[in-house]
Amino acid sequence: MNKKDYYEVLGVSKDASDSEIKSAFRRLAKQYHPDVSKEPDAEEKFKEIQEAYAVLSDEQKRKQYDQFGHAAFDQASGGSYSGFNAQDFDFSDIFDSIFGNSFGFGSSGGTSRHRQTRGNDKLMHMTLDFEEAVFGCDKKIKVSVSEECEECDGVGGFDVETCETCHGSGTITSQQRSLFGSFMTRTTCPDCNGEGKTYKRKCRACNGKGRVIKERTLNVTIPAGVDNGNRLRLSGKGEAGTNGGANGDLYLEFTVREHDFYERDEDDIYLKVPITVSEAALGCKKTIPTLYGNIKLTIPAGSNTGDKHRIKDKGINNATTHHKGDMYVVIDVKFPERLSHDQKKLFEKLADTDLNDQEINKFNSFVKNN
Ligand SMILES: [Zn+2]
Ligand SMILES: [Zn+2]
Repeated sequence: MNKKDYYEVLGVSKDASDSEIKSAFRRLAKQYHPDVSKEPDAEEKFKEIQEAYAVLSDEQKRKQYDQFGHAAFDQASGGSYSGFNAQDFDFSDIFDSIFGNSFGFGSSGGTSRHRQTRGNDKLMHMTLDFEEAVFGCDKKIKVSVSEECEECDGVGGFDVETCETCHGSGTITSQQRSLFGSFMTRTTCPDCNGEGKTYKRKCRACNGKGRVIKERTLNVTIPAGVDNGNRLRLSGKGEAGTNGGANGDLYLEFTVREHDFYERDEDDIYLKVPITVSEAALGCKKTIPTLYGNIKLTIPAGSNTGDKHRIKDKGINNATTHHKGDMYVVIDVKFPERLSHDQKKLFEKLADTDLNDQEINKFNSFVKNN
């Protein structure tokens, strides 16, 4: 698929400032919001604009995009969700400020029952095991989705007839009197909600609404590398729209359980490896469990607590950012809490030798001259 350049989509230059990008987005979002735009491809355009803004308004994502183009955000194939993965991106603030919170996001929408409104977005929480988050996984989730009623094929009733109240026009005209004389007003017909037709028998399965709420199981592919607080967008799996309006999106927000040994910092993995005093002093070879199996690591003589060894590319292989993290082995020298008689003798012998250490010497001379 040939995607348009994000800068082109927003109509800004490559070196546009954050505020230029924001104001371009506001202007275009207003123009193409599916609830207000009459353009035939408004929804498509609107999605493009959202996607472009999600990337260009985020400093890190913008950098990735400048460097790699669209490839920076290509999803691993085979996912059961579609569209841009707007992790951690919440448009509701900006939409509230553009539209005064009257469309879609977080509110039930407009005044007329007849107007198409996009369904609300939904947020679900999911807890993952450390390994599930690191390697990605397939999950089943239960969601309520709005579907066309099978009984009435989505029309809401049987045996159609012209609405008697409005004679099929969908509106009623009435005269209103005021201090300044009388005038005519037009309102949507309350009996047919502006459809111009009613049904002899209302469909019971959907109570005349044409749509029913059903519990469905969704298969979701969680990409490798998600972390605490990341969100995955499942396009169109949020609350149902009204009057044929698009469904909202479902966002899955992740909580990742801690691992007994591994610690995570973004895509890097830290592992504390305890070694004995003699191992630290003499050096040793250690078997290190990485995410991808065991490896041998040489710990040099004279190691100290806190010494770090970087093992390249053994961190998390992030499917969303295509970034490969590293692993860090952090040395933790364990001093024996209790010494046997023999050990004590050995340490005393050691103390008699000249263990020359630069830092200790420096400190001692500081003490002497103080
Ligand atoms: Zn009517
Ligand atoms: Zn029905």
